[in-house]
Amino acid sequence: MAIKVLIPTPLRPFTGKKDVVEVEGATVGEVLTNLTEGFDQIRQHLYSEDGTFRSYVNIYVNDEDIRYLAKEKTAVGEKDTISIIPSIAGGADADIQEVESEIQLSNDEVLRYSRHLIIPEVGMDGQKKLKSGKVLMIGAGGLGSPVGMYLAAAGVGKLGIVDFDVVDQTNLQRQILHSTRDIGRSKLDSARETLEGINPNISIETYETRLSSDNALDLFADYDVVVDGTDNFPTRYLVNDACVLLGKPNVYGSILRFDGQVSVFDARRGPCYRCLYPAPPPPGLVPSCAEGGVLGVLPGIIGSLQALEVIKQLLGEGNPLIGRLVLFDALKFTFRELKLRKNSECPICGDSPTIRALIDYEQFCGIDKTGISRPAVDEKTEITVEQLKARLDDGENVFILDVREPREYEIVNLGVPLIPLSELPKRIGELDPSREIVIHCKMGGRSAKAAAYLRQRGFKYVRNLIGGIDEWTNKIDPTLPRY
Ligand SMILES: [Zn+2]
Repeated sequence: MAIKVLIPTPLRPFTGKKDVVEVEGATVGEVLTNLTEGFDQIRQHLYSEDGTFRSYVNIYVNDEDIRYLAKEKTAVGEKDTISIIPSIAGGADADIQEVESEIQLSNDEVLRYSRHLIIPEVGMDGQKKLKSGKVLMIGAGGLGSPVGMYLAAAGVGKLGIVDFDVVDQTNLQRQILHSTRDIGRSKLDSARETLEGINPNISIETYETRLSSDNALDLFADYDVVVDGTDNFPTRYLVNDACVLLGKPNVYGSILRFDGQVSVFDARRGPCYRCLYPAPPPPGLVPSCAEGGVLGVLPGIIGSLQALEVIKQLLGEGNPLIGRLVLFDALKFTFRELKLRKNSECPICGDSPTIRALIDYEQFCGIDKTGISRPAVDEKTEITVEQLKARLDDGENVFILDVREPREYEIVNLGVPLIPLSELPKRIGELDPSREIVIHCKMGGRSAKAAAYLRQRGFKYVRNLIGGIDEWTNKIDPTLPRY
């Protein structure tokens, strides 16, 4: 019996771009085994080396997680749909604000918020709740832009923003808090100026720091709601754990390419992020927006949904998105809603938690801390752009291979052969295993994987170009376009 399997956008390159695949099988396990037989490259995303399911991928039958059905033995029939939900790198009742009696609205504010005041669910009382609300945004980027702008416009009394980045030209395609004239400026300064321009009645607190286990609890303590607008896994787990430990709602959003996810994690009344994804993906397997790309308007959509949930939390109105994960597929224009269950074995919000304080999140996510300031170059497997340039200048005939996608090659290339990483297994015969090969991609992640793959298959002299074509453009040839 053929069962429909919905493929998320990050895995579609491995199914010949198909978003739905029909696969034979009577149980989830059989269907997925047959799926990986038909599309070999999906295997490493679903199963770890020992053949067990990866814990950062969730499998749903219709709207239920198979962990709460019969796991891989869950029987499926013709009418069922299996969804693969990978993690991507981004309270009403209990929380109803007691409006402090001294909170008043000025005549100017009454006029400004008049379209709120005439909605029964908001009214004067609700607007005062918004004014007394304190919301902390983690990140002033793609998701933080609409979140900050709508919360400022709505009159949320205090907005905190944590960020340490500067505005880069590549941000402007989606991070609408910042303008062209802000390039090179701190994102916090730029965000503050934009938000104060929208609404001078609110207070904005900025924290120019990298969120860490040392500062998260102190930073979060003063706020009612935390909005996760980060782009990396260590920070997502850190935000989650700090919110669980402090008993605060975490309004979650993430985006990649055309896919978005939104939920509200509140461990007091539902699951947390760890209940959904107990472990992070290994570094490099899930591309970041810098490597994988993201459609500019997508953070606008997902961030606006986050802003909506924050406002509902502050007002104490409506049904919050607790225990539900909403998936948006921009290409198909579908919203799907999946049930999330609290995991009784969750290490932080389960029945017998093992995590009682913040941990080392870089280590938890398998990221070597020294990787932030790079370790010494391993000459056997790596080469810097300066070293490569010197060898080319010496007239050495170095074989360079580009493993990016053709559309990236079209933007900029070094005039060297192209074999996209995804095609490497079937095109390996085009390469000479006895020859020295230097591999590059955009920033060095995919080329490191390609180099490791070739070494496993007997290529002796394979090196990864550290930092990829991005580093080459920065340090060697600034006339090339950057993307
Ligand atoms: Zn949990």
